[in-house]
Amino acid sequence: MKILFLDQSGKLGGAELCLIDIAKPYCDRSLVGLFADGDFKTLLQQNQISVEVLATQPIKVQKQSNFFQALASFTKLIPLLIKVTKIARKYDLIYANTQKALVVGALASILARRPLVYHLHDILSLEHFSPINLRVAVTLANTFASLVIANSQASQTAFVQAGGKAELTEIVYNGFDSKKYQIPDIEIQKIQQELELNGKFVIGHFSRLAPWKGQHILIAALAECPPQVTVILVGDALFGEQDYVRELHQQVKTLGLENRVKFLGFRANIPQLMSACNLVTHTSTAPEPFGRVIIEAMLCGTPVIAAKAGGAMELVEHGVNGFLTTPGDSEELAKVINTCLQEIEITATIANNARNMASQRFDISTINQQIAQLLIFPQK
Ligand code: UDP
Repeated sequence: MKILFLDQSGKLGGAELCLIDIAKPYCDRSLVGLFADGDFKTLLQQNQISVEVLATQPIKVQKQSNFFQALASFTKLIPLLIKVTKIARKYDLIYANTQKALVVGALASILARRPLVYHLHDILSLEHFSPINLRVAVTLANTFASLVIANSQASQTAFVQAGGKAELTEIVYNGFDSKKYQIPDIEIQKIQQELELNGKFVIGHFSRLAPWKGQHILIAALAECPPQVTVILVGDALFGEQDYVRELHQQVKTLGLENRVKFLGFRANIPQLMSACNLVTHTSTAPEPFGRVIIEAMLCGTPVIAAKAGGAMELVEHGVNGFLTTPGDSEELAKVINTCLQEIEITATIANNARNMASQRFDISTINQQIAQLLIFPQK
């Protein structure tokens, strides 16, 4: 099957990393069309996946845009739509991986007479989207998509609650190649040396820097932990959250934690870094649609504490394969971190359970087979 994948982003977020794994099996006969240039294009090329940047100017509509902003940017979409429609005629299926890709993909699917699949990586709620963006996404999906792949039960439920048709949806979790997360000790030691982490109890946070990802919750919790506990914050402000970055640095200074928090920026070697941590925390203050970092930590055999909301609750069973804490509650987080520090053996058993569970439940080849089966359906 020849697939035209569409994604609005040039940057590497969870949806884009997931798309690389989905597009790979179709790489000899498919194209990924992007609406912006950037690192995502390079990574697709490194994975031998054909990629083309289709937009000549950035599409400015944001998740919180109002009606008039959305309308103004819509007129700018027309050249892009013409281009996508022309390309789509050479493919059997349009696969929209993001919201703006859905807008363009939906219209192109009508003009080019090709079925449309929408991969939903978001929780479509007012917490994350403006009312107009929400309505546009649900209406387009309901009207034009043959299939909506939701990345968790939480994303599926939010879609239906926002007016989406339940019968269009299928839940497919992200898949992972567990081999990529088995890191030799020598590599782990090298990273620990480079980052001067030897002898420390290292807590990792792996996420773009954004208020709802809750890095500030971890920093507040760190102030309640013994001095050997150190935090590495891995990730960058991908969508211009510079004020938040300044606030985080200020919080670290105010709490006197300058020697215990390292801002590492965006890194490509996540499995190595996670393996060098004693603990990984996920601290999103709003429900996470899926939470790739949670599964990645599990696959590295590193114990994980996740915020109890959204997709994370489908991934973590408290005390069995990880720990759950109330979103936004830094005191509770500090308590669980301190328990992990003391209960080393129990925590290691839980991390081991998690590794076994995650490598089976989120195996990339099983997930890809699931998607391949589903993609037969919109052809009818
Ligand atoms: N990630 C990365 N480098 C970084 C920070 C994060 O490659 O510096 C990856 C991380 O390993 C994960 C993805 O970005 O695979 C984030 O996905 P997640 O579902 O956790 O959050 P999203 O970005 O979709 O909100």
